Amino acid sequence: MNNPSTIPNQLQCPSLSPIDGSAATLAYTQKLLDAVNAMTSVALQYHRQPERFMEEMISCLIKIMNFQAGALFISEKQPGALCLAAVATAPGQKPTTEQSALWRAPLLDHTQKLAQQTIDQGQAFIITADLIPPHLKPIGAALQNQAADRLISMPLLVEQRPIGVVQTVVPIQHSFAQTEVLAMQLLAGQIAVTIERLWSFMALRAEQERTRAVVDATNDAILMLDATRRVIMINRRAKFFFGLAERDVWGKEYHQLYILLTLILDEPQRFTQWFLPLLESETKRDMEEFQALLPEPRLLQCFTAPVVGHDEQYLGRILIFRDITREREVERMKNDFISIVSHELRTPLTSIRGSLQLVLGRKSMETKPQSLTLPPRSLELLNVSLSNTERLIRLINDILDISKIEQGRIQLQPDTLDPANVCQAACNEVAAFATTRGITVQIETPEELPSICADRDRTVQILINLISNAIKFSESGQQVLLSAQPFDKFVRFSVRDWGRGIAPEDQQRIFQKFQQLDSSTTRNAGGTGLGLAICKALVEEHGGRIWLEDAMPHGTVFHFTLPLAVDHADQADIPRQLKRQTLVLVVDDDPHVRPLLARLLEKHGFHVASAANGVEALEFVRRKQPDLILLDIKMPDIDGFEVLRRLKHMNHIHPIPVVILTANDLGEITRTRALRLGAFVYLEKPIASEHLISTIEQVLDQVENPAITPG
Ligand code: ADP
Repeated sequence: MNNPSTIPNQLQCPSLSPIDGSAATLAYTQKLLDAVNAMTSVALQYHRQPERFMEEMISCLIKIMNFQAGALFISEKQPGALCLAAVATAPGQKPTTEQSALWRAPLLDHTQKLAQQTIDQGQAFIITADLIPPHLKPIGAALQNQAADRLISMPLLVEQRPIGVVQTVVPIQHSFAQTEVLAMQLLAGQIAVTIERLWSFMALRAEQERTRAVVDATNDAILMLDATRRVIMINRRAKFFFGLAERDVWGKEYHQLYILLTLILDEPQRFTQWFLPLLESETKRDMEEFQALLPEPRLLQCFTAPVVGHDEQYLGRILIFRDITREREVERMKNDFISIVSHELRTPLTSIRGSLQLVLGRKSMETKPQSLTLPPRSLELLNVSLSNTERLIRLINDILDISKIEQGRIQLQPDTLDPANVCQAACNEVAAFATTRGITVQIETPEELPSICADRDRTVQILINLISNAIKFSESGQQVLLSAQPFDKFVRFSVRDWGRGIAPEDQQRIFQKFQQLDSSTTRNAGGTGLGLAICKALVEEHGGRIWLEDAMPHGTVFHFTLPLAVDHADQADIPRQLKRQTLVLVVDDDPHVRPLLARLLEKHGFHVASAANGVEALEFVRRKQPDLILLDIKMPDIDGFEVLRRLKHMNHIHPIPVVILTANDLGEITRTRALRLGAFVYLEKPIASEHLISTIEQVLDQVENPAITPG
């Protein structure tokens, strides 16, 4: 390796001398600044083509300085590795082999070594043709061939850090003054800064492209609104989900986005009621489900959260939609499977229990029990069989109940009930169990208790569950107390025990499915961990609440409330499920639309039956009279008109009101024809669910009370 200090005419870079203020100097400075600007802007045009960018930089430098040729060496990512990035020759001249020979083999070895020395020393070198060290002789010869007498090799420094080297060839006739040295230093500095910027820009762009690719690759639809509520991002999945192009939404304000959503979502108003308050907030996050109707029916789970920058600055809000249609379908299939299997198991189990009860003389007092004639060992085995059969039946009933609850299929049969009577009925059911455990169950109710409006069997079921738990978790000889009290517009039932109690940290989780606190006790007691989850769902379905509190000095009190009967409460306070169980028959051949409508109606408290075509609908009506029919027109085989016509000829005591809900492309003639055939109302899809429900309610009110005309 040559010592760079041996290279003659080493240029000691001088500091900038003060500008003398002469017109020539000022003009030169001005020209130089213009040149720097021009160089930067030309080069930046090629920010997407790094090779061309480098060529433009060195070409500009050659042109500005009026040099003959030049080259750029750039440090690769690994420190120290320099590589030739671009070679340029003076403009207007055809680049000849001699002009660029310095940066081609075999001379490239020498110029590259010189570039490396420039970097290592961190300062510029001038090699002159007449005074050249022996090891650089080939460079001297090449310079002479090009009628040049100097090669300048100058480092490209960014904050004293070398990122490359610029080499230029100065022609013999060129006067190379100190001002030009300074100018070249300035330009080299500018080249260094511009290259550094290009690298940062390329890194940033690569990062952005990667992020975008990730966002586009997700299976969720993502939209982002900025702090001024404009859409600034929509990913590929969102465009696909909603059938939108980027231009449809990009830059749009929320209210414009909402107009698009009204065409896509089933309940756009509900969406906006949910989302607008969140849009106002810079902190809240939430999740909700919405049904999309277009471009195809989908159940979407929508999540929203604020987007916050590194400095905690609010950048906007993200909306993420996940298609859960399939998930729900699988869930439904799972629930159907559980229902079918449980039903199939329950039938033979019930008959096994019946037979065992008969043999053991538990069922009827009239027939002489067979057990009297059985040897004691057989009797014992039969008793074990009966108690395990009963346990299995309880488990199956619980599983069936929980699956119904999860599908929202719990149907209450509301009645006016005397709370004291219900308490007594529940106590009778658990009496035998209490006796075997050595527990006494006591009832405490005031003389005058208002009636409640509730499903009798379900109320007794809740009480049995709570009393059985209280018995299970008490010691023999202890007492369980069942009481009922008026409680605002409810009656509050309480089950108190003096058993082992429930730790405060477990008090919420025991209301979740399959939560058992002590498996050994539970195993002995034969629980499923479903009882309290079922109680909670049943109480809430009635519009009540269930909770527990620690009993002093030990034990537990479970409370739950059920609403007062109509005489005692305002009609408006009674939940819809308890008011009316109206049966609506949905007739539509679209397999996606039918469950959608059914779910919507069920959510509003209606019983729903579905028919996939006109024949099925008419068969259903022959067996059972629905309170209202929601009918499609375009269907295979028997269309909606035919269904209307045949319904007219069926001998119903009360004609069934029909609401037409059909595609919006059938025109006025269809509407007139349907109404003439007896349809009550003619609606077109897509329809806002609120409008559909209010229309159905108006029709039902009008049928029940013909004096009322729909508004
Ligand atoms: P299980 O059928 O197992 O009783 P539950 O849902 O009815 O299921 O009860 C869940 C768990 O809550 C029980 O396993 C038990 O650990 C706890 N638990 C319920 N009631 C009481 C009570 N009165 N005293 C103490 N623990 C109780």
